[in-house]
Amino acid sequence: RVKGEGRNAFAFFRAEMDHASQDRRALEQELQFALARGQLSLEYQPQVDMVSGRVHGFEALLRWSLPERGAVRPDVFIPVAEASGAIVPIGAWVLEEACREASVWHEPMRISVNVSTAQFQHGDFAGLVSRTLSATGLDPSRLEIEVTESMLSRDPVRMLDTLTCLRAMGVSVAMDDFGTGYSSLATLRAFPFDRLKIDRSFVQDLEVNPEAAAIVHGVLGLAKALSLPVVAEGVETEQQSEFLRTAGCAEAQGYLFGKPRPISCYDYLTHPTASSRTADIDSGLLAS
Ligand code: C2E
Ligand code: MG
Ligand code: MG
Ligand code: MG
Repeated sequence: RVKGEGRNAFAFFRAEMDHASQDRRALEQELQFALARGQLSLEYQPQVDMVSGRVHGFEALLRWSLPERGAVRPDVFIPVAEASGAIVPIGAWVLEEACREASVWHEPMRISVNVSTAQFQHGDFAGLVSRTLSATGLDPSRLEIEVTESMLSRDPVRMLDTLTCLRAMGVSVAMDDFGTGYSSLATLRAFPFDRLKIDRSFVQDLEVNPEAAAIVHGVLGLAKALSLPVVAEGVETEQQSEFLRTAGCAEAQGYLFGKPRPISCYDYLTHPTASSRTADIDSGLLAS
């Protein structure tokens, strides 16, 4: 090994890091104005019944598009928004936009909204949800809030209090990305969830990794014992779908049934006459 190589590699790494942090700072700047400039939007991804194929609900997913740069991936900008605090006003916008949209749908389907820790720590989140439901007229039973395990460990007392308030209002709470965090079993017992979402990393490995299959079976068994319905995330193939259906998973969400799409793609929600609610018709209509 040539002596200078390590140092060069390090210098290169430093340069990459500088680019990354510059990029991050630039994104952070831009994000402050994203809401006011109308650069944010939502896409909706169906959650379907594994037996009937009917759509039971949609997850609202945030999108950010910059004029020069195009779309920025949520995996990239959401952590930036969380770190800067911008997620608080942005998250409030997501909640209101999703509730207002769902309130005029021609089918009373569930609408799931992701939230971040900062939204729970900042002010009265249950109060915000309550005001948003009143303002939009959405029935509380149609709203589901998705939280992750890591959010629960930060401030468990406050989380439990907020989740309990939400459920008292008739809003349901789902645990997102289940299996990727710590203390899963204790958490499931301690917090009042209405639904579990199996993380897509397990679903994607189902065919190739026997351990992933064992974990999925384990999660489904556990959920059954706790009477919790399960949604499998990231279902892309018929084989995965068949495995999950056979294993007793009630609902699925994934590219096989429909990618996240702008609301204008869902005729049957926005036009009273159209009726195409099954997953088969959906994927046919929406495939592009
Ligand atoms: P998530 O809540 O677990 O959302 C599901 C993610 O899986 C979405 O990624 C969705 O597009 C993707 N997905 C669904 N089906 C498939 C599939 O079959 N294959 C593959 N490869 N991916 C699939 P997306 O939209 O990029 O969002 C990423 C994450 O960003 C979300 O993960 C969520 O944690 C976060 N996020 C999105 N919108 C919001 C929001 O409004 N607020 C907050 N706080 N976080 C959000
Ligand atoms: Mg989610
Ligand atoms: Mg999530
Ligand atoms: Mg997830």
